[in-house]
Amino acid sequence: MRSIVIASGKGGVGKTSIALNLGLVLAQQGKRVVIVDADVSMANVGIMLGIERAPISLHNVLMGETNIRDAVYEGPYKLKYVPSSLSLERVKRLSMERLKGAIADLEPIADYVIIDSPPSLNRETEYALMAAKEMLLVVTPDPASLADALKVLNFASKNSVSVMGIVINMSIGDKNEVKKDDVETLLSSQVVVSIPEDMEMRRATIAQVPLVMRSPQSPSAKKIRELAAAITGEAVIQPETKVKKSLLRKIIDFLTGRKDPQ
Ligand code: ADP
Ligand code: MG
Repeated sequence: MRSIVIASGKGGVGKTSIALNLGLVLAQQGKRVVIVDADVSMANVGIMLGIERAPISLHNVLMGETNIRDAVYEGPYKLKYVPSSLSLERVKRLSMERLKGAIADLEPIADYVIIDSPPSLNRETEYALMAAKEMLLVVTPDPASLADALKVLNFASKNSVSVMGIVINMSIGDKNEVKKDDVETLLSSQVVVSIPEDMEMRRATIAQVPLVMRSPQSPSAKKIRELAAAITGEAVIQPETKVKKSLLRKIIDFLTGRKDPQ
């Protein structure tokens, strides 16, 4: 079983979106995936999936009330996930130290455990990082995001979490953006993939339908499939594009009786 934490220095850089869509792509390819929503104060994974109510959540696990296997739910493509609950009151009483052991308990049912983590380097984030063997660090290509990312990298290296690589997200291709090479030099790590700023990503969040299901042909979905391939070491599988027929083509085909090949 591989355990990969999706981390970042800053909040709002796309961790949850990437964790969820990456998990879905791997699940679609037949991998046994469990997403663990360790952003205990935001509980966004369930919201993005459009599944908001879960009687047993990671909170119960972290409070020692139940085994993590009782908090596993099934989503699309047999993707499994462990939600957080939205009760802020209970967050204060959680024992994040229990997370690592809980993740280990997923071994019999998972090939990949993807851990979505809270933003900024606080106590919860530190435990989320230490619960995983590998880390993907999400940054946006601007100096503030990279400065915060450095702190996370330092913490990871001190706690023997191996850095799988960097994901640049929300790149707009602006000349003032920090370039991929500079990101790699600054963070001394390899950039696995650069995901463009893509309106479809925001639309998916608003619609509560994951991007790779709602807009599989979007540029960001393609990049997430590349990321999945980089993780598994398998070939990138992109869905076929259906060529849209022009109105003129449709009329000509109708008049000449031409049928589409099946
Ligand atoms: P985090 O978990 O790091 O706080 P989220 O995944 O919740 O970040 O994303 C924050 C917002 O940014 C969401 O509205 C999401 O749709 C949007 N977003 C994420 N990635 C992209 C992208 N590549 N292009 C455009 N919007 C994005
Ligand atoms: Mg999040």
